[in-house]
Amino acid sequence: MASIAPVGIFGGTFDPIHNGHLRLAQEALEQCGLHSVHFIPGGTPPHRDAPYASAPQRLDMVRLALHRNPAFVLDEREVYRTDPCYTVDTLVELRSELGEQRPLCLLMGGDAFLTLHTWHEWKRLFVLAHIVVMQRAGGRPLGNAIKEADATLRSEYHARLAPSARALLDSPAGIIFVADMPALEISATDIRRRCSEKKDTRYLLPDAVAYYIQYHHLYT
Ligand code: ATP
Repeated sequence: MASIAPVGIFGGTFDPIHNGHLRLAQEALEQCGLHSVHFIPGGTPPHRDAPYASAPQRLDMVRLALHRNPAFVLDEREVYRTDPCYTVDTLVELRSELGEQRPLCLLMGGDAFLTLHTWHEWKRLFVLAHIVVMQRAGGRPLGNAIKEADATLRSEYHARLAPSARALLDSPAGIIFVADMPALEISATDIRRRCSEKKDTRYLLPDAVAYYIQYHHLYT
């Protein structure tokens, strides 16, 4: 089968987007030979605390952060939703838009992967996409979680853990690949705290996003 460059899918609250998110996407782009990465800011489901910034503000910040990187794409499909919006449903939509053959790579940090078994219809994710776990140097070890996911997937879905990113090109879905990335100790929680304490947030997130936050008095 001719290989088609995979598309990366990266969901998050992005409240605000920061350099940890951007570096994760860039590492995935390079290490996995992705065609592009779709950033999908999440909605506000009823059972979860609402983000601090509004949906239009989170969109503005992601738009500013992605500016001038043609491989990074803002996808607005989830952000205004107030019903429970599951990743599996978003993947079904993307699969129908991008075609049956296109490899889709759902990107996530190691911390997110460790909670994967709690996600709605998590095993179905592997029918729709590959999962690329971006493991930060020094992050919590994935050992058992990876082995268990691998064993379940092998028996139920013929999915598997792949040692090399090459495998992502050979099929549209069904692979777990763990890529390493340098640790960037940045979190949106910490940035919001710094803003509320009127501290400088430069170099933790793009300047344009830092100015936006200041201008709109976000997180104060
Ligand atoms: P919060 O502090 O509000 O929980 P966050 O900074 O963790 O937010 P999210 O939008 O919740 O950001 O995260 C989306 C994804 O980004 C998750 O898969 C998470 O693992 C990953 N991620 C967040 N921060 C980093 C970072 N510094 N380095 C690598 N991945 C990160």
